[in-house]
Amino acid sequence: MKKIYLLFAFILFSFTACKQNQTAKQTQTTDLQTQTKPVKPAYAIVIHGGAGYIKNLSPEKEKAYREKMSEAINTGYKILENGGSAVDAVEKTINVLENSPLFNAGKGAVLNNLGQVEMDASIMDGKTLNAGAVAGVHHIKNPISAARIVMDSSKHVLLCGEGAEQYLKQFGLEMKENSYFIIEKRKKQLEKMQGKKTALLNTPSPLENIIDDHKYGTVGCVALDKEGNIAAGTSTGGLMNKKYGRIGDSPIIGAGTYASNQTCGISCTGTGEYFIRTMAAHEASELMRYKNYSLKEAQKSAIQQVEDLGGDGGMIGLDKEGTISWYFNTEGMFRGYKKAGEKEVIAFYKE
Ligand code: ASP
Repeated sequence: MKKIYLLFAFILFSFTACKQNQTAKQTQTTDLQTQTKPVKPAYAIVIHGGAGYIKNLSPEKEKAYREKMSEAINTGYKILENGGSAVDAVEKTINVLENSPLFNAGKGAVLNNLGQVEMDASIMDGKTLNAGAVAGVHHIKNPISAARIVMDSSKHVLLCGEGAEQYLKQFGLEMKENSYFIIEKRKKQLEKMQGKKTALLNTPSPLENIIDDHKYGTVGCVALDKEGNIAAGTSTGGLMNKKYGRIGDSPIIGAGTYASNQTCGISCTGTGEYFIRTMAAHEASELMRYKNYSLKEAQKSAIQQVEDLGGDGGMIGLDKEGTISWYFNTEGMFRGYKKAGEKEVIAFYKE
């Protein structure tokens, strides 16, 4: 009987030992699989459509903004997903926003004190630190594409006014009469600001009635591609009732736009003069480089400097790991992003 017990105990021990060995082997294989699994490229895109006093948008307005922002985000996202460059993604995404009257860029841009649309834009490639910009242009349908041409096809960084338009015509850029950019809603806003009686010549289109009266409506985009390259761009009509000839921060590299693969990409919106005086976009980048700030800490500090001088606005950005961050000192900011394999996020108000 004792022998039978001993035999049974031996069989049980052997079975347990064998099972443990199997589990250990399985764990080892799983660990190995985790180690050799290819790392997913962290491509991502983030956009803004201006910061300001956005409060309780009607469902109709919210829907219109959400749809257009989603279209813009996905335009750039698809380029990145297919292995395209961050610079391409930034340009094409901004084109979508420039072509929509909902934002203060391209069609629907704000008016200067003479009632004209005068546009600024810039783009920067974080890999090469190459950059291009246009300022004070009146006829270029898509100023961000003009900035791209200045970056790629000239030895200059910033071209302005008539000289810019004359030079850029040869590249086949689409030119428009200034009236193409001007919408009734903006005329009304300008007349109100200048203390004039509002006399609309035409009835605003249903889409124009959607446009929110929030303060800034500049558009911007930052992207990270599969190669790990960062690009940033910004396009605007500037500030409503600005002095004819006034240039804001958006076409100034380092102020409204900056990108470096070493740190991050940034696009700003707000009272441009303060972003120029603090070199806000570059400041955020360099706080990361020299002080090891996280992107959020760097943005917070840069916007604080703008605020200390009396300005307001915000900035979006992403770093080399694909971390997305924004910061603003206004009530809200039209903004959104999409990361590789994730759902898009669109937001208007403060979190
Ligand atoms: N920053 C732009 C400018 O001052 C305005 C804006 O963000 O809407 O020209």
